[in-house]
This record gives sequence, structure tokens and C-alpha cells, in this order.
Amino acid sequence: MKTAKFRTAVLLVTLVTIVSCATNPVTGRKQLMLISEDKAITASKEAYTKMLAPLDEDGLIDSDAKMTQRVHQITAKLVAQAIKYRPETEKWEWRVKVIEEPETVNAFCMAGGKMAIYSGLIEKLEASDDELAQVMGHEIAHALSAHTAEKMSIALATTVAATTFAITQDRPGVALAGASLAAALAIKLPGSRLAESEADEIGIELAARAGYDPRAAVTLWQKMAKASGNDSEFDFFSTHPAPKKRMEKLDMLVPKMMPYYEAKGERPVYPLETD
Ligand SMILES: [Zn+2]
Repeated sequence: MKTAKFRTAVLLVTLVTIVSCATNPVTGRKQLMLISEDKAITASKEAYTKMLAPLDEDGLIDSDAKMTQRVHQITAKLVAQAIKYRPETEKWEWRVKVIEEPETVNAFCMAGGKMAIYSGLIEKLEASDDELAQVMGHEIAHALSAHTAEKMSIALATTVAATTFAITQDRPGVALAGASLAAALAIKLPGSRLAESEADEIGIELAARAGYDPRAAVTLWQKMAKASGNDSEFDFFSTHPAPKKRMEKLDMLVPKMMPYYEAKGERPVYPLETD
């Protein structure tokens, strides 16, 4: 007779051995996908709501009207470009929130376009609009390339979330809890070098097409490096390892991006909901 323990073991082995690979919708690269993008989106939505609710109760969400409006205006232009890359993402419920945490220098975009930026990033770096567009463009690029679902897959393969997920596949509500845990973990996992470099390339282009100066990608990382000093725990660097090569690579992309940035005409704006 199969015990629950045995069943869990079998399912876990199944999960990590019959690895399902998916092709990256933007780059064409094969990725580890234990969880479909659709499931990742549903789970991320839940994780996002859970994460923001207590902060909202404490009045820490979008508390600075001017800062919020600024982030919204920039993000709305970036999302309009993101949809051109992947038209089906128009049905994503894109959202961005500013979290009032003056000590946290970080930002994220979960699967399905649920984003947040911490006030510490904006204030500590004294980030310009162009630099903020680079941060958000980079984060949006992660979601577009299904990097979040990929990181969730890694979280599922390596953590306790896997157990919850595996033993509850036939109980959708609980399985979602496991996947939602993985979504919360995924934004804390460092990106692989490959994923980071993909997000850098796509992000700088999204920003340039949205009308933001690609040279700001370089100054942004310079500011990050300066602000972090020798702090290896620095939030953004813990999820975005930044070797010197990264800045050099971005710098090399600038000439190719300038025509998009300098193109004349109005940039489209996505109607970003504020709820
Ligand atoms: Zn990244």
C-alpha cells in the first residue's frame, strides 16, 4: 500500500527528473519549467496580494502621491512597449506599487506583471526618470522572459514549497499555496547570469523605445555600486549580481539603443490601473 510519504517521494522524484523544459517566449532559450507560466501567474497574483496587504494596512503602499505618480507614468510607457514584444501580455493585469521602505534598495516584477519598487531605491540613489525606467524595464524583462516562472521552478525543486506543491497536485487550493510560496521565494532568489544578461538586453531596449535614455543603464549601476559600498547584503545586488562586466556590456549596447531613444513621436502609454 502506498503511504503518503512514499507518494510524496515519488512525486518529488517525478518533479525533478521529468523536467519539463519550455522555450523562452522572447529569447528562444530552453528553460527549466516545473510550473507553467499560467500557474506561475495565478500563484504570483496571490503572493503579491498577500505580501502587500499588511503593508497597505500600515499605510506603506503608494503613500507618497508624487513618487507614486512618477513611477506610474514611467511604468505605463514601459508596459506599452512590453506588450509589443509579447502581445498576449496585454491581458495580464499589470500593476505597480511603491513600497515605503527607505532602507530597501530593490524592485521586482512577478510573473504576470505584478511589480513593486521600494522607496529606498528611488531616494537613496536619487534616481532620475531615465534610471528608474532602466530598473523597471529590467524587471519587466524578467517577467516577459518567464524568468519568474523559471525561478519559481528552481524554488519548487529545492525547497519545502516543493513538498506542498507535490503532495497537493490533486487539491488545487493547497497546490496553489505551495506555488504561491514559491512565487514569494522566487523574488528573493538571485537571477542566473544568463537570465540577468537577457533582462539587461531586453530592459534597456524597452526603456529606449519608451523614450528613456539608454546611457542611464550605466549610471544606474554606477550609483548602485556606490550606494552598496562593501555591503554584500545590499538588496538589489543580492538578487542581481553585478560584476563589472555587466556595466561594460550595457555600455556596449548604448549605441544600438540610441536610435530608439531619439526617435520622434509620442510614446504609447498603457492604462495602468491604480487600485
Ligand atoms: Zn535581474
